[in-house]
Amino acid sequence: MEIKDTVLNLVEKYGTRNPMELADYLGFIVQKHDLGKYSGYYIEYEGVPCICINSRITDTKYSDIVLAHEVGHGVLHKGTECMFFGGTFFSKAKPEQEANIFTAELLIPDKTILENPGMSKKQLAGLTGYREKLFDFKIIGRRN
Ligand SMILES: [Zn+2]
Repeated sequence: MEIKDTVLNLVEKYGTRNPMELADYLGFIVQKHDLGKYSGYYIEYEGVPCICINSRITDTKYSDIVLAHEVGHGVLHKGTECMFFGGTFFSKAKPEQEANIFTAELLIPDKTILENPGMSKKQLAGLTGYREKLFDFKIIGRRN
């Protein structure tokens, strides 16, 4: 199944695009700790998906990105682990790219793009508060 369809099915089923609510519905344990230079991580502990977000992050839009990325791993890649830091957005590894697509599809509804035709990624980033790089992973088309 396409990642976009996976996200749309989750959004429809649980009625939210909020990654914290979604993590809760999916039974993921989410905690906040001081992780130093890392933004967050995902691990499975005795089969339970656990996500930790760096408590130093004050930008809620960025913590939503990190959380959505880790939820993406939990949904798409059972059994993987991920340490998220700023460079994860630029990773060429397939699971990282897929988690980034999951993040973009969850946090950016198609209508945000469709209702603002001609806007650059930079302008869309300013409009939504999310980092410009996130828009590289957004796929427009097919279902809405
Ligand atoms: Zn990752």
